[in-house]
Order: sequence, then structure tokens, then C-alpha cells
Amino acid sequence: MAQQFDVIVIGAGPAGYHAAIRSAQLGLKTACIEKWRSKDGKTVLGGTCLNVGCIPSKTLLDTSHKYSEAVHDFDDLGIKTEAIAIDVPAMMVRKDNIVNRLTQGVAALFKANGVETLAGSALVRAGSTVELTDGEGNQSLLTADHIIIATGSVPVEIAACPLDGALIVDSSGALAFQSVPKKLAVIGAGIIGLELGSVWNRFGSEVVILEALDEILPGADQQVAKEALKQLSGQGLDIRLGTRVTGTEVSDDQVNLHYSDAEGDRQESFDQLIVAVGRKPCVDHLLAADSGVAQDEGGFIQVDELCDSPVAGIHAVGDVVRGPMLAHKGMAEGIMVAERIAGQQTLVNYDCIPAVIYTHPEVAWVGRNEQQLKEAGIEYSIGMFPFSVSGRAMAANQTAGFVKVIAAADTDRLLGVHVIGAQASELIAQAVSAMEFGASAEDIGLTMFAHPTLSEAFHEANLAVDGQAIHISNRRRRK
Ligand code: FAD
Ligand code: AMP
Repeated sequence: MAQQFDVIVIGAGPAGYHAAIRSAQLGLKTACIEKWRSKDGKTVLGGTCLNVGCIPSKTLLDTSHKYSEAVHDFDDLGIKTEAIAIDVPAMMVRKDNIVNRLTQGVAALFKANGVETLAGSALVRAGSTVELTDGEGNQSLLTADHIIIATGSVPVEIAACPLDGALIVDSSGALAFQSVPKKLAVIGAGIIGLELGSVWNRFGSEVVILEALDEILPGADQQVAKEALKQLSGQGLDIRLGTRVTGTEVSDDQVNLHYSDAEGDRQESFDQLIVAVGRKPCVDHLLAADSGVAQDEGGFIQVDELCDSPVAGIHAVGDVVRGPMLAHKGMAEGIMVAERIAGQQTLVNYDCIPAVIYTHPEVAWVGRNEQQLKEAGIEYSIGMFPFSVSGRAMAANQTAGFVKVIAAADTDRLLGVHVIGAQASELIAQAVSAMEFGASAEDIGLTMFAHPTLSEAFHEANLAVDGQAIHISNRRRRK
């Protein structure tokens, strides 16, 4: 007989494990199915984020940033060092240890909360039934009142650049290099391409990033994207816009890359190539023909604002559904669905999702940018504050970038906050809180900020919306 649960979650990435833990906390009999296995056959929890995404990439970004500071900036601070070197295998061991600690932490949380982990691949069938196939090919049937699909996403592959796992890799491969490539190509100047390009550039690789579009970071405020391009190019990243990769050949341990740009068809040789051209929803062997669950034209599982599919009792959350492919967006959706199953009225505020790019300087934003507001015909005022005049930024030798606050011209409510600068990933949290509470620029202006901090730049940018900033000459800009 089929095993019965209140809730079955498919996928133990951030969206799935949040949904599973919250469901169990709320007293629901919960199982979480995960197909990821380690080389020694053990089930691996945590999904893309913990294993080959957010956490390993930030580990390498933080290490490479420290290395870069030691090599390039310590002298300016009066710190004398002997020759600095990077031990890549040691860095990777540390990264793997952090990943293991966190993935085992999810397993411990499942145990503590009474979530049953089921190893294997799930297929959703009609009638709230899930067919589970374990690593040995054994099949069993499970039923549940609610099924939460959280199967995430996988890297997009392009026919022009077939991966070989050694010279041509995706983001997972680029997080496991055992040495610094001399000359490295990255296809795609999206978030992942810029972050991974930065890591290896800081360790001394000659990095060329090839991007088909004429701009980087199309989702960012254009003023911020331009500043990011300037800063990253200044660090030695060779970012070539309007450049489309059309093919590759591998010979003599080299990748010969074919591409076209304004000057026509060209080719260039590299030691390694990272393909970072985006991600797509993971739906392979997930939906039986009779499941009733539909996908949109991009392959994403169709759901409404509440993450409910048209089939009663089937929900989907995280990267496998519409919206930005960000871990925290999936976590919020997972919690919402679990709480609604338990009868609560939780919602996700899709207007308040922070986005962060962990380059240096970091880029972060929440809410709408100038392009979007112009397109929507909404009048707004802008307050800007540069880190170059912040005492704390000077003390920290981190004066690049600015905070840009956009407030509604009529109500003064914050519509968007855009930061490029050191610790933008942390600074943006206060903007998210302010916007969640419907704050106006004046509200933030009337709030006290500790001195000296980088957060004072957020305070001053809000004051600048109405021409009241203290440490810059104010020019009011109303659009
Ligand atoms: P996933 O994390 O992809 O997890 C899905 C899980 O489902 C996987 O474990 C998979 O094995 C399992 N699964 C799939 N199909 C089945 C099946 N049929 N049966 C059983 N199990 C199945 N986001 C951020 O917010 N911040 C960052 O800094 C950031 N950095 C990133 C860096 C990189 C290099 C990459 C690649 C991604 C990064 N992301 C970042 C994106 C983030 O990793 C994803 O948004 C997040 O992991 C999505 O969570 P999820 O739970 O929806 O899916
Ligand atoms: P993202 O989806 O944000 O990770 O970004 C992926 C980037 O890769 C996009 O900006 C695409 O324009 C870019 N891209 C996709 N295919 C190619 C290609 N063949 N050559 C160059 N850039 C590409």
C-alpha cells in the first residue's frame, strides 16, 4: 500500500527544505524527496544553493577578495607582507568543508523537526501520487494531501559549446578548478558569469567575458550597471559586449573559441572556458503525462501568486517557477505554501525581493529602477550619496560606488534603492525593511544611524531626495 503523508516536498534545495521544515513545525506529517547523491552514494541535501551555488561561490569570492586586497591594497594601508600565494587545492578543501557542514546541518534540522528524508527521484502522477525511484532502481508509491514541487534549476547548455568537464565547464565546474587558469573565457556577463570571472581574475587569470547583449546586468538600474562595468573593467576583467559565441574546438589542451562582434567573425584560444549563459527549470522525468500539472513556454511550472498549480493540492516553489532565480525568493515561497496548507494567510511580497551581485564592489537593489519607473510613467525624485565622501568608507579603503534612493514624487514613499559599494549585500537589508514597512525618504531621514558606518550613506541618500543631505551639495532631481 502507498505510504501516506500530509505533505510531500520534492527537492531539498532552499525552497524545498524551508517548505519541509515549516510544514513539520506546523504539525504536518512531512517527507522530502531528494535525488542528489554524493560520489559514495549518500543523499545530499541543500540543492544548488548549498552545493554548487550561493555558498561555494561566496566562499571563493570572499577568499579571492582577501587575496586581492593583500596583493593590491595592503601596501596603501601600511601593511607590509611577504610574497602572497594562493593554494587553490587548500581553498577548495575549505570550501568543501563549509558545504558539508551546511548540508549536514539541513539533515540534522530534518531529523530534529521530524521531516522524513526519502532518497530517490520523484515522478508526480495523477491523484496526488508520487512515484519514487531510488538509486538502485526500486520503485514505490507515496500519496499526500499536498505535494510541493521544489526541483530547482540546472545550467543552460548551448550546442556551440558542449561541456567536457575539464576545459569547458559550467558554473559547478568553475567552482572546483584545482589551479588558476592562465587565460580564461566566460560566456555570459550575468550575475554568475561576473562573479566567477571575478574570482579567477583576482587570482591572476587573464579573464575575457563575452556577452551577446550591449550591456551587463539588464535587470539593474542603468546608472548602477554602468558604474559596475567601469569598476570591473578597471580590475582587469576584459568584458566584451555585443559579442556572441558561435562555436568551440578543443585541441592541444586549448579551447579555440569562435565568436562574432561588430567587426565580424573572430576566434581566440583560451586555457579554459566557463559557460554561464543562464539556468532553466529542472523538470526532467518529473511530471507524468496524467499529472495535470502544466508548464509555461519557458518550461517553468505554472502557478499563481500563491504558488498553487491548477491541480488541487499541488504547489510549486523556487527556481522551478516564474520570478527571479534567487534562494531567498524560493525560501519565502516555501514558507508561504507550508503556512497556507496549515490554514494561515501568509503572502510573498514580490515587489520587495532584494537582488545582490557579490562582485567587488558589490551591487544590490530592491524595488524598481529608473528605467522601469520611466516606462510606467511614474514621477519620482532621486537622492544619491557617494561612498567617496563617507568617513567610514575612507577608513576602510572602500570608497567606490554610491547609494541611489528613488522616492515617489507625490508621496515620498521609497520605490527603489540601488547600491553599488562595499557591503551592499548587507546595506540593502535596511532598504528592504524600510520598503516592507512603506517608509518614505523623510522617515529614513528622521531615523538615527550609527556613526561612522557605511549605512550613513543610505541615510544621506534619503536626505538628498529632498535636498537635505549634509555631506554633499544637494541638487534636487525630480523626474
Ligand atoms: P535547487 O537549489 O536547485 O534545489 C532543487 C533540488 O531538487 C536539488 O537538490 C535537486 O537534486 C532536487 N531534484 C530535482 N528534481 C528532482 C526529482 N525529480 N526528484 C527528487 N529531487 C529532485 N541565489 C542567491 O539568492 N544568492 C546567491 O548568491 C546565489 N549564487 C549562486 C551562484 C551560483 C554559481 C549558482 C549556480 C546559483 C546561485 N544562486 C544564488 C541561485 C540559487 O542557488 C537558486 O536560486 C536556489 O538554489 C534555488 O533553490 P531551489 O530550492 O528552488 O532549487
Ligand atoms: P544570466 O541569465 O543572467 O545568467 O545571464 C546569461 C547571459 O549570457 C545573458 O546576458 C546572455 O545574453 C548571455 N549569452 C547567452 N548566450 C550567449 C552567447 N552564445 N554568447 C555570448 N553571450 C551569451
